[in-house]
Amino acid sequence: MYIDTHTHLYAEEFNADRSSLIKKAIDNGIKKFYLPNIDSESIDGMLALEEEFPENIFPMMGLHPCHVNATVQQELNTVEEWLKKRKFVAIGEIGIDLYWDKTFFKEQQLAFKTQIQWALAYNYPIIIHCREAFDEIYDILCSFEKLPKAIFHCFSGNLEQANKIIALGNFKLGVGGVLTFKNSGLDKVIEQVDIDHLVLETDAPYLAPVPFRGKRNEPSYILEVAKKLAEIKNCSINEVGDITSKNAEFIFGV
Ligand SMILES: [Zn+2]
Repeated sequence: MYIDTHTHLYAEEFNADRSSLIKKAIDNGIKKFYLPNIDSESIDGMLALEEEFPENIFPMMGLHPCHVNATVQQELNTVEEWLKKRKFVAIGEIGIDLYWDKTFFKEQQLAFKTQIQWALAYNYPIIIHCREAFDEIYDILCSFEKLPKAIFHCFSGNLEQANKIIALGNFKLGVGGVLTFKNSGLDKVIEQVDIDHLVLETDAPYLAPVPFRGKRNEPSYILEVAKKLAEIKNCSINEVGDITSKNAEFIFGV
């Protein structure tokens, strides 16, 4: 069994074949799909999928850092309203992204801190998006006396950064397609990280693993990531599935 801990199945890239693609993934052994929210626009599509596949699809609530702008307060209000209204499996995806745009850095910091506080209040794990912002995120995390359980999604840092995250406590590193990219160097880092700290993810429709690199990503391709991890860890792909699923369930609760 495999768990895709990070997939945007509500994205328009899946409009033509969403249901059949999810059924195919389930047949391939991917039994659970965790859907990070983006902003107020993505909620309806995400919840509709949960209704269609209640045993397999698990929605999160949160505001993505790339969608933080002048309307941040309004967007955060929407997140808060939903948190009051019903249960979710996590707060995500949240964090800081300074790759595309630094204009709203202050607002990104505010949104990240606020959502960590909500995670603590509701006892939810957090899913962290970090791009060109490791130190900025790490500083905020360290400013909290207590932290929720967390997945550092799409981890692509160095060994020192991996160890810093793991030392924060109940943190797992999300690994996906980048692990299979030639010259990413991530395989050398992950080789030195105990598999107990890892969970699998696709980030579909983005970051498809080799041999699908550059194409639309989908949950079934998680098997390519698992295969690569099995190679690195010198174990079977089934063991990778079992251990990373157990790690994911530790974060999300079963
Ligand atoms: Zn994402």
